Amino acid sequence: MSVQVVAAKMAEVELKDVPTGKDLPAESPVTPTSEGKNLPRNDPHEAGSAAAVSPIAEPSAKAGEGGTGLLTPNPAKMPQASSMKRSDPQQNGGEAFVNRDGTVAEAPRMKKIQFADQKQEFNKRPSKIGRRSLSRSISQSSTDSYSSAASYTDSSDDETSPRDKQQKNSKGNGDFCIKNIKQADFGRREIEIAEQEMPALMALRKRAQGEKPLAGAKIVGCTHITAQTAVLMETLSALGAQCRWAACNIYSTQNEVAAALAEGGFSVFAWKGESEDDFWWCIDRCVNVEGWQPNMILDDGGDLTHWIYKKYPSMFKKIKGIVEESVTGVHRLYQLSKAGKLCVPAMNVNDSVTKQKFDNLYCCRESILDGLKRTTDVMFGGKQVVVCGYGEVGKGCCAALKAMGSIVYVTEIDPICALQACMDGFRLVKLTEVIRQVDIVITCTGNKNVVVRENLDRMKNGCIVCNMGHSNTEIDVASLRTPELTWERVRSQVDHVIWPDGKRIVLLAEGRLLNLSCSTVPTFVLSITATTQALALIELYNAPEGRYKQDVYLLPKKMDEYVASLHLPTFDAHLTELSDEQAKYLGLNKNGPFKPNYYR
Ligand code: NAD
Repeated sequence: MSVQVVAAKMAEVELKDVPTGKDLPAESPVTPTSEGKNLPRNDPHEAGSAAAVSPIAEPSAKAGEGGTGLLTPNPAKMPQASSMKRSDPQQNGGEAFVNRDGTVAEAPRMKKIQFADQKQEFNKRPSKIGRRSLSRSISQSSTDSYSSAASYTDSSDDETSPRDKQQKNSKGNGDFCIKNIKQADFGRREIEIAEQEMPALMALRKRAQGEKPLAGAKIVGCTHITAQTAVLMETLSALGAQCRWAACNIYSTQNEVAAALAEGGFSVFAWKGESEDDFWWCIDRCVNVEGWQPNMILDDGGDLTHWIYKKYPSMFKKIKGIVEESVTGVHRLYQLSKAGKLCVPAMNVNDSVTKQKFDNLYCCRESILDGLKRTTDVMFGGKQVVVCGYGEVGKGCCAALKAMGSIVYVTEIDPICALQACMDGFRLVKLTEVIRQVDIVITCTGNKNVVVRENLDRMKNGCIVCNMGHSNTEIDVASLRTPELTWERVRSQVDHVIWPDGKRIVLLAEGRLLNLSCSTVPTFVLSITATTQALALIELYNAPEGRYKQDVYLLPKKMDEYVASLHLPTFDAHLTELSDEQAKYLGLNKNGPFKPNYYR
């Protein structure tokens, strides 16, 4: 059965039209690495299974065949995702490698992952203070993003750790650990509000009636536990999957949403403000359970995947695939692949067009103003702003600020993006040229030390400084921690840094991601990413053995197009259908894909 995603007939598209594993031809991964080709595999799968075939020689052999299938881009044209990543300092920092013990070390800007040494550690309950001081490192992503925005309920009055509570939902089920089950009704309302803005997942759910493409799937997930994630989890469940979930970030859980999920029968292990030990304990409770073993992983940041690698490698015998959302997690998968240690297929959702083109651009266009407004109440009209980096995030920030009447300057290192900035009507400058006059400085390069102490010294009184890039390396915040400067916390996530002459700058979220730290992000954008994740899970789960090897794949363009098509009805958009003549002229199938896989 081929995919019939004809845009003009979008409204009639049925779930059966979603490309599933059965329908797609075997593909080559987009990510084989030349470095990895001669590396031995450390494959916990038994030899002899189709999946145990070395994925490394295979892709390059297939590459020469010219890419007949959906996941088989023309290798001559297609930049390989893994090599793109390694040479992309914005995403990775420097080289990373996988240690013998399975830990991933480092990339200068990526913390080494460390795991709790003993599983039993969780049974020897440390004291509350002891728990806080346990020095297990969580990956940077688990603390970097979403540091405070998420929960609408304040549970700070209840100091008891959820781990110390006996918990049961109204049906007597106690297979979860959350802050407070009594918040379930409130959480349910939050989920219902999110559903309004997640049309594609709701459509998948509706169309699933009678069809269960995820029947038998046992998905273990580790993502932000928010209302949007709840909509995804309930969709996966409607499609037939069983889910167990932990949070990928110690601060981002919406307690009320976790409560609603637990009340609805989901095994959720998460609360806002987990300690680092709690974080790993929650992940462990998701996977280490009698009578239940996951066969799919949905990860955001790679911590869950690495926990299973480290603690329960034999589980991979049953796992059909990993779907990974984040830059960081994808990077780790490539490292595993490079080291020959990736033993199941993985889908890189981060690099899907439906993630990058929407999450990075539109999410930031919508949330930059929100983050600035909530923290500083600043008026934008007439303010002079410099935006460092004119990639997807920078373009979103600039567009929003320009629309509000700000005077926007851009800095860039890449002449192409610089030219785009010029032709979009922005003044391209060096930071030093405008640093004395600007009211707001925003970094979004993914680079390091874009704003350094010398720049900070020259800023005018009251200048707001913030970062929209992934990690907190863009602004040299450490350089502000010197004895002559005074720090004053004026609001949550807002610091005044005061110079001896009284000048103060307003530093937001200590240089961490502004929007994810200080505001929320638009549900509709998350809907696009969540739908992509759901389709990736369906595809990997249903793919016939041998289609995917032990490597990292991008979703086929056709699925990207399908995700987009599911969101169009929200706008009452009417897509033009190719005529036979036009399709022939362009050399396209009338039903897509309409662009090559390398198109971004
Ligand atoms: P991108 O690669 O499209 O853009 C980054 C731009 O910065 C590039 O054009 C690059 O040439 C430029 N640049 C690099 N170093 C520079 C320097 N020293 N001075 C000026 N310009 C410089 O990447 P993107 O998609 O725009 O993402 C940027 C960052 O934002 C990444 O770290 C990404 O992970 C993060 N991100 C944040 C959010 C969010 O919600 N805040 C969403 C998606 C991505």
